[in-house]
Amino acid sequence: MLSNLSGKKVLIRVDFNVPLDKDHNISDDTRIIKALPTINKVLSEGASVILMSHLGRPQKKKKEDGSIDVDKFSLRYLVGHLSKLLERDVIFSNDTAGQDAFDKALRLESGQVLLLENTRFEKGESAGSEELAAKLAKLADVYINDAFGTAHRKHASTYTITKYFEKEEKSLGLLIEAEIQSADKIMNSPRRPFTSILGGAKVSDKIQLIEKLLDFTDYLLIGGGMTYTFVKAKNGEVGKSLLEEEHLDLANELMQKAQDRNVELLLPVDSACADNFSNDAQRTICNSNQISADLMGLDIGPEALKTYKDIILRSKSILWNGPLGVFEFENFAHGTLGIAQAVAEATDKGAFSLIGGGDSVSAIKKSGLEDRISFISTGGGAMLKYLEGTTLPAIAAINA
Ligand code: AMP
Repeated sequence: MLSNLSGKKVLIRVDFNVPLDKDHNISDDTRIIKALPTINKVLSEGASVILMSHLGRPQKKKKEDGSIDVDKFSLRYLVGHLSKLLERDVIFSNDTAGQDAFDKALRLESGQVLLLENTRFEKGESAGSEELAAKLAKLADVYINDAFGTAHRKHASTYTITKYFEKEEKSLGLLIEAEIQSADKIMNSPRRPFTSILGGAKVSDKIQLIEKLLDFTDYLLIGGGMTYTFVKAKNGEVGKSLLEEEHLDLANELMQKAQDRNVELLLPVDSACADNFSNDAQRTICNSNQISADLMGLDIGPEALKTYKDIILRSKSILWNGPLGVFEFENFAHGTLGIAQAVAEATDKGAFSLIGGGDSVSAIKKSGLEDRISFISTGGGAMLKYLEGTTLPAIAAINA
């Protein structure tokens, strides 16, 4: 990250897209906490800080009269909490790149922090507008991008804006640097055995990641809804389980590739099955390839969990993306929470663990084991794309 920022105005793109309840209380401030090291470092160098972020999707969720729901999506409700965390009063700009932002940025002094209104209140943000990017760039001398969660998007505040700063006036922040280092560590030089755990709903969302992992990983442990497309491809009976009929050939190809590359791709031998999609459904343990027509697999079963745990505890590098069952239902969260426990134990023993993807992150939080994981990514989609080998435009633009 850039240094020698004394006396400079530094515009930092952060990801403050935090969940707020109906009274505007922040229900999870992880994203704000993760942005603090960069903000504090810039302040400690004697610079002033201008923060900008998106919050939700205000252009998609407009009020009935077609106007932006300012009250619902305003960043002003973050000011109190942010002021406490930064131990100074945070100034708020009522617009993103208008007169108020311009005036307040102009008057900003060393050590002061200005928070701009939601970048997505501006139509040009998602469209990557040059006009908006140019206005934002005028507010500061230096630009730092620390919003990993939106690094895969070509938005005005993450991508287009980089054009308006010289190479020595822009950089990535500490959070993005750490995200990339963790992903590179696991993909470029993993200590072995390297185990990847993949869950989530559909195989179709993870095809590229699976393909990529087959080049690196030693074990690929499959769970979640995608299990049943693989099981069916091997002529198993999956009952009413989630199934992507159109991807049966693909599932077979992936299993063949795994075999060719000496990757042990494991499917859960048993599943916790339900007679309907609810927490209160009758819970039965079934062989994953013999699920009767009236049942559906909603979690990995106890035998599978035992096998997966043994492998995880022997691993030196672990990548986990996606829950192994419908963990939102307490009765079908055992597999996911058991895996979380095993990943934490393996990390205690010295393994490097990286958890990426929104739902596996919620699962690890639910289990209270966050502190025992080497790195928890703040960017679900962005991390997935990076691991797949895609260049993230906002990062490439800084380095160009
Ligand atoms: P993803 O966004 O692809 O990581 O998928 C996460 C979602 O997959 C979560 O909401 C889970 O409830 C869901 N999921 C996990 N396992 C299953 C399953 N066996 N059947 C249906 N949905 C599942």
